[in-house]
Amino acid sequence: MMSKEERQERRIAKQAEKLEKKNLKTYEKYMEQALKEAKKAYDINEVPIGCVIVQDDKIIARGYNRRNIDKSVLAHAEIAAIQEACKKTGDWRLEDCTLYVTLEPCQMCAGAIVQARIPRVVVGAMNPKAGCAGSVLNILQMHQFNHVCDLETGILGDECTEMMTRFFEELREQKNQIM
Ligand SMILES: [Zn+2]
Repeated sequence: MMSKEERQERRIAKQAEKLEKKNLKTYEKYMEQALKEAKKAYDINEVPIGCVIVQDDKIIARGYNRRNIDKSVLAHAEIAAIQEACKKTGDWRLEDCTLYVTLEPCQMCAGAIVQARIPRVVVGAMNPKAGCAGSVLNILQMHQFNHVCDLETGILGDECTEMMTRFFEELREQKNQIM
């Protein structure tokens, strides 16, 4: 026989599990939207990285990488989305937002995320050579700064990785054809 405490513990564990599943579903739903943004970059021959910012269960901003086409080092997906979100909310603080991005943010974008006080960041694929959400550095979670983000990684990670891999494969093929 289970004791009252055991039964209660079990109930709490089940509730937590349910909540986790619900969160995962939400994360995947919005990561799919970030992937849609990444596809826009892909279609114009940019490295396919996409981002959406969600507030109150609504997408308030979108962005995709346009570094080459805009000839700007600032034209990363996250910066574009942050700018749009700030414009929409009329505030530089994005305190009740969640940012979804298909690839682990670089040092510039991770810095902007911390500056905007975004509480939660959801990442698709990790970027071992340049990522600043745990790979090279973890700028999102440095306790020396006045803001530390919650972080989820690996959400639709395979899909996000696959889009990158395909992009670079095609780029190599194009280069080979030229040569
Ligand atoms: Zn970046």
